[in-house]
Amino acid sequence: MSGISLSGVTKRYPGGVLAVKGVDIDIESGEFVTLVGPSGCGKTTTLRTIAGFERPTEGTVSIADRDVTDAPPYERNTGMVFQDFALFPHMSIHENVAYGMEVDGDHTTEEIDARVAEMLELVELPGVGDRTPDQLSGGQQQRIALARALAPQPDALLLDEPLASLDKKLREQMQVELRRIQEEVGITTVFVTHNQEEALTMSDRIAVMNDGQFEQVGAPGEVYNEPATRFVADFLGTANLFDGSVTGVENGYATVDCGDIVIRAQNDGVGTGRSVSVVIRPERLTIDDGSAAVDGAGIANTFEGIVQFKRHLGSSVEYHLETEEGRKLIFVRRSGTDERSAGDQLSVRVNAADCRIVEA
Ligand code: ATP
Repeated sequence: MSGISLSGVTKRYPGGVLAVKGVDIDIESGEFVTLVGPSGCGKTTTLRTIAGFERPTEGTVSIADRDVTDAPPYERNTGMVFQDFALFPHMSIHENVAYGMEVDGDHTTEEIDARVAEMLELVELPGVGDRTPDQLSGGQQQRIALARALAPQPDALLLDEPLASLDKKLREQMQVELRRIQEEVGITTVFVTHNQEEALTMSDRIAVMNDGQFEQVGAPGEVYNEPATRFVADFLGTANLFDGSVTGVENGYATVDCGDIVIRAQNDGVGTGRSVSVVIRPERLTIDDGSAAVDGAGIANTFEGIVQFKRHLGSSVEYHLETEEGRKLIFVRRSGTDERSAGDQLSVRVNAADCRIVEA
């Protein structure tokens, strides 16, 4: 069974803003897909189009194998959670969670009470039914918002930045908790965030959006390690990006002249003369002490530079290195602690297999 399908979905707002430009995606039943991208790229519009709050200008939306393109929100059987929780302030928690089933009108009081109790157990807040929302913390309110969305047994769960107003620690706890609940219920979920780390940790697949389009859709490891475009590489995590042109190709590797530095990079069919960008993740660079391993073909790149800046990231250290030749900045990440500091000369090395070519 299909969870959610968007086919050629385009949304032009009155006034002319083209917010979503022909997006296609098939989300499997039970899958957790995140829409991630910068502010204004069309994430919320896409989600609202699935929920039925916006009607697509073109294209179709189906949920649980049913074409709902022309159906109003209340006929789509989706549950939605927003950043601001949107709990009803004057209702008890029990009444909040029961709300969707009450509106449905085809459940007995006993059924509703049992379901509310089940949902409060699910979000691990069994004893709060008689309280009002203002008697709960932000994290607890968000759990209740989730319980309320899930109580009527929707076909899909739609989450619009639900963790954005929580502090970092609580947010990280809720990421794990939300995923646990989603898996336990087995519900098809679309999650919107502009936080790349959140997208990478939580999702089965990520759709990276830019300017109303999906630049790449793939598993977290795939979009991070094999970005399809320069935008994806740059948006997800830190990337060293070097623009240049291919001057030679052999044995699956390309030589890319980036002006001041020349990089040997893994090549999947890009021809000589093409303008490209080379993507190197900071953690792929090793500080060269002569023992670094190279790949099977024995091709590695070595760069010399001066440490301009050292950033402590908790479990790792990041150096910003300026090359002697061209004053290009290189980000290098090393786990644990490290003794080097600004002004030190450093030689760093990266396997050609870890240098990825994308279209410029
Ligand atoms: P953010 O992360 O800031 O919430 P987003 O990726 O969710 O952004 P959308 O809210 O979908 O982006 O907006 C996409 C584009 O559509 C933006 O240019 C926005 O200004 C525009 N837009 C959104 N809602 C409307 C509306 N009701 N009328 C006209 N234009 C709108």
